[in-house]
Amino acid sequence: MRHKLFLTFIASCLLTACATSPTGRSQLLMMPDAEVNQMGLQAFTDLKKTKPVNKSSRYNRFVSCIAEPLTRQVGGSWEVVVFEDETLNAFALPGNKIGVHTGLIKLVDNQDQLAAVIGHEIGHVLAKHSNERLSQETAVNGGLSVLSAVIPVAGASSVLTQVGMSALGVAAEYGVLLPFSRTHESEADSIGVDMMAKAGFDPKQSVVLWQKMSKASSGQKVPEFMSTHPADETRITDLSNRLSTALSFYKQAQAAGKHPNCKK
Ligand SMILES: [Zn+2]
Repeated sequence: MRHKLFLTFIASCLLTACATSPTGRSQLLMMPDAEVNQMGLQAFTDLKKTKPVNKSSRYNRFVSCIAEPLTRQVGGSWEVVVFEDETLNAFALPGNKIGVHTGLIKLVDNQDQLAAVIGHEIGHVLAKHSNERLSQETAVNGGLSVLSAVIPVAGASSVLTQVGMSALGVAAEYGVLLPFSRTHESEADSIGVDMMAKAGFDPKQSVVLWQKMSKASSGQKVPEFMSTHPADETRITDLSNRLSTALSFYKQAQAAGKHPNCKK
């Protein structure tokens, strides 16, 4: 059975589903983009219904001021919502949706640190990590039956399956936590740090942010974000190693007059 499944998997990969991520990594994407975007859209609608939305102009202005130059790098129209939630968290969903928790806004010292997190989250979306994870889960959990269970219900919030939801990375709200893999995390980091630099945010602050997160997690309360985004030595070292490239993008952005000036 496993063998047969594997062959089916390889066959579908050869025929249709092999793709290349923005960093040049090959990935297996079995879900149609429109379906994954629809799932992201639905999950975001659900979140807005179940979580209190922060309406303060101060926080909303700050977050939009940062998200706008970032999303301009990737194009398309993005919806950004500030959620009233003290956990140190942010997320981006397929379908161009971004959520930022008030707890994270309070934690950051400046625009560049929040840009690092939002850039990272957009990186997950750009690299289609939800689609890839969903495709991988599909392979592990029993082939096309899982896919067919997900696709028809993508438009109906109450019956979105856990496997579909967890693949989007918002599973914590639904009682299942499924972090992105180390590969996805590291890829989102490199996409994010380049993106923030090209938008005119100081990429050095990404390292400071992760150090801050790491410190926050060593306290009594482990922030929710940390459970899916470990700020370990590897992440911080890898990011530091990317800084010289990112700094050259930053210099070019500044020379081109990109000076975001977002204040809390
Ligand atoms: Zn991540």
